Amino acid sequence: MTSKIKINFLGTSAQIPTVKRNHSAILLNYNEENILFDCGEGTQRQFRKAKLNPCKITKILITHWHSDHILGIPGLLSTLALSGYNKTLHIYVPKGTKEFMRDLLRIFNFQKKYNILVEETNGGKFFETSDFYIESERMHHGIPTNAYSFVIKDKLRLDKNKIKKSKLPFGPLLGKLKEGEDITYEGKKYKSKDFVYGEKGKKISIVLDTLINERIVPFVKSSDILICESSFSSENDEDAKEHLHLTAKQCGEIAKKSKSNKLILTHISQRYENNLKGLLKDAKDVFKNVVIAEDLSEFVI
Ligand SMILES: [Zn+2]
Ligand SMILES: [Zn+2]
Repeated sequence: MTSKIKINFLGTSAQIPTVKRNHSAILLNYNEENILFDCGEGTQRQFRKAKLNPCKITKILITHWHSDHILGIPGLLSTLALSGYNKTLHIYVPKGTKEFMRDLLRIFNFQKKYNILVEETNGGKFFETSDFYIESERMHHGIPTNAYSFVIKDKLRLDKNKIKKSKLPFGPLLGKLKEGEDITYEGKKYKSKDFVYGEKGKKISIVLDTLINERIVPFVKSSDILICESSFSSENDEDAKEHLHLTAKQCGEIAKKSKSNKLILTHISQRYENNLKGLLKDAKDVFKNVVIAEDLSEFVI
């Protein structure tokens, strides 16, 4: 069976943090992978509150270089150095922004105690194993900005009970069956389709700051969980357009059009803190399965 994906919202505020909401950061855990999407100011302390170990981070994916998404990087990297982090930390950033990372490390006189590899990504798959891949898509937010998807691939699995009953020996023959090939063993034919079943993968998409654009729906298509920034409600749609952000209603429309399963709204502005129900309704009018993320809330699929 496919392992679970855990998503921890470490920070869910828009530009200005509030008592209840820290700046943007989302941690995705899958087996040994711990991927941090953005690292707003104070993210390392949010790890403590969530009782999560930042030394387990394997990758940091930056959506864009607005301060509410990146000011936590120097502090987090310093803490990792003091905590004996001993892996190579992979940091992915939008195209044309690799040098920002280098400047940041220089400004803070960062003591290089572990390897940091910074790579730019500008759309398409940029990391892939036999089990999953991560891809990016360019967004529209005034500066280079990416959305990201984490995708566990569909797989073919052998039905262990049927294999046991068949008395087929473990080894290359079973490998062939799994690959879809029919086999012969001791004069008897075995059809692949009788022993193999498909296991559906999973997809998590994260669309933070952006103006609505035509690339979003195809990119997040059929997401099991779609996480969207929801800086404005549709009552303020002119503000959303002017500041290159999404409204909750647009998030609902994206979820509906992309046939996603569940929508989680984040990047919540302080102006809606006393009217979260109104913000939620704005999305719910279009798409039913939607919640607003709170700091330290966890979702598992
Ligand atoms: Zn932001
Ligand atoms: Zn922004």
